[in-house]
Amino acid sequence: MSAKPIIEISGLTKIYDLGQVKVSALRGIDFTVLEGSYTAIMGPSGSGKSTLLNILGCLDRPTQGTYRIGGDDVSTMSDRQLSRIRGERIGFIFQSYNLIQQLDVVENIHVPLFYQGKDINSYREHCEKLAELVGLSDRMDHRPMQLSGGQQQRVAVARSLANEPLMLLADEPTGNLDSKTGEDILEMLDKLHGEGRTIVMVTHDDEVAERAERVIHLKDGLIDRDVRSDNGKPAPASSDKKDDDEGEKKVRFKVKLNRGEKD
Ligand code: ADP
Ligand code: MG
Repeated sequence: MSAKPIIEISGLTKIYDLGQVKVSALRGIDFTVLEGSYTAIMGPSGSGKSTLLNILGCLDRPTQGTYRIGGDDVSTMSDRQLSRIRGERIGFIFQSYNLIQQLDVVENIHVPLFYQGKDINSYREHCEKLAELVGLSDRMDHRPMQLSGGQQQRVAVARSLANEPLMLLADEPTGNLDSKTGEDILEMLDKLHGEGRTIVMVTHDDEVAERAERVIHLKDGLIDRDVRSDNGKPAPASSDKKDDDEGEKKVRFKVKLNRGEKD
């Protein structure tokens, strides 16, 4: 039995039209993300990571190409349809947590359900269970200001699960955390992946990316390399560019993965 595709992207382009100037942020990329996989997206500043994540998260639309989530083409959907898909199928984890200061932990976890018109009274228990899952059972009525950065990001992880999404999208989830606290969050993502969750994460940190099974490297709006750690072979990419030090990088990738498992 093979895993279902969750994300199917084909010929995806994004051009920002600034009147006089047009910026090609994505220049035709193709890839598929399978259910239960853990993918990292890397690349230098300006390579198109945020643009891609915004499209993956249905916060923006491509200029051309198709994007299917769980088989449904979302590239031509209206804003209303997009926000519905976003609410039902995607869990977000941001670098800066994006919690609502006036709400306590359980209420913050409930936010994605609130946007679906689901009343907190019917979902309090569900949200409390998620708070427990991320180790915050003794902080349920705390506000974000009363929590450490790591605890706030735990709330964000719990919130990302509230709507039982098809996939989790994380944007530099450890970017604001010290390495020890960041490690806790990465372990949590490892655990969620182990339970079969689909995760796509943008990061500029090699050590963070090495937690994923696959790293898609963007460069100038194209896929430069697509490296999987399971078989050590690069997946077919939209650009067939050969990279001389690719073999060496893969070895390093594996060594680090093994080291990570022993820690
Ligand atoms: P990254 O996240 O990898 O740093 P971005 O996706 O933010 O890259 O940007 C890719 C390219 O698109 C860059 O050249 C950037 O200047 C441009 N860009 C990004 N967002 C906009 C926007 N809203 N309007 C115009 N140009 C943009
Ligand atoms: Mg960016």
